Amino acid sequence: MNAPPLLADAAFCAALPKAELHLHIEGTLTPAQKLALARRNRHAMASMTLEQIEQTHHFGGSGSPEVDLKQMLDCYYGGIELLSTRSDFFDTALAYLDQCHREGVRYAEISFDPQAHTSRGVPMADVVVGLYEALQYGRATWGVQAQLILCINRDRSVDSALATLDEAAPYRECGWIVGLGLDSNEAGNPPSKFVEVYRRAREQGYRLTAHCDVDQVDSVKHIWQCIELLGVERIDHGINCLEDPDLIEQLRQRGTCLTACPTWRLRDPQPRRVERIRAMLQHGLRVTINSDDPGLLASGTLGRMLPRVAAHGRFTRAEMAQFCRNAFQGAWIDGPTQAAYLRQIDFLKPACV
Ligand SMILES: [Zn+2]
Repeated sequence: MNAPPLLADAAFCAALPKAELHLHIEGTLTPAQKLALARRNRHAMASMTLEQIEQTHHFGGSGSPEVDLKQMLDCYYGGIELLSTRSDFFDTALAYLDQCHREGVRYAEISFDPQAHTSRGVPMADVVVGLYEALQYGRATWGVQAQLILCINRDRSVDSALATLDEAAPYRECGWIVGLGLDSNEAGNPPSKFVEVYRRAREQGYRLTAHCDVDQVDSVKHIWQCIELLGVERIDHGINCLEDPDLIEQLRQRGTCLTACPTWRLRDPQPRRVERIRAMLQHGLRVTINSDDPGLLASGTLGRMLPRVAAHGRFTRAEMAQFCRNAFQGAWIDGPTQAAYLRQIDFLKPACV
């Protein structure tokens, strides 16, 4: 009789070369980082204690996915206001890349929300240059490779999105921004609203992704819109595709990467969405595991959350390796670089049986 497949323990998860595809740099800010930024920039939050700021991270659990998302976004945008200078963006991105280095995250695609900064008077140059310089430093110092994704806030107007694309054009042209994403409050802001934005972005050479958050109104419809109207290559979250067999088949045929997040909040006892993510894997979808907003969530960064997800889901080593393979296959990197990362995962194959 064959021995059962080995489960992925913490040591195996640590050894896996990892790629993070769904991460908001503004969502990496922990309460301690927020307090430090508030003091540096003389922001009103500087008068709060660390414990008071930590309290603002206790969101969710309302019983309504829409209300939970709104509460989480309120906490998220509360932190965004603290990022004002080029140094703030540089330091925040560098702190994240340092963590990647410590956890074996070899590659990261980092989303940022320019409209939330430029609308407060922060120049686009300070945002992009600050982030990009950190990426360069992180690559040179730790060998962590990373690229930037410009995320459009879907609760703002199409005109604002188009103006943002225009403003970001010089950085896109020099290759500092690889992709375009769509995030923020999904209620009343379907992907179909942004057809022109995505058409223009495709023309400008952006790689394309968009959020379809979990259990929102019309989630399935929105995933269809993303692939048929926006022409995305990836979908952030997208877990509700499981409700439509035709959609599962479409996503599988297209090889669309779905960046799932089995993250958990402070009030959650354990990783969420794990069974649905397992079902996606079993359907042969290119599903990956990601940390989304590690500073706001109890789950933390990718290297910290993977062992908990593996243990909670009783995932085998082969399954955890497949999540990581899917991430490198869905990453916006050239063929030889991708092949090199995949070979590193293959080196662990003997440990999977
Ligand atoms: Zn996200």
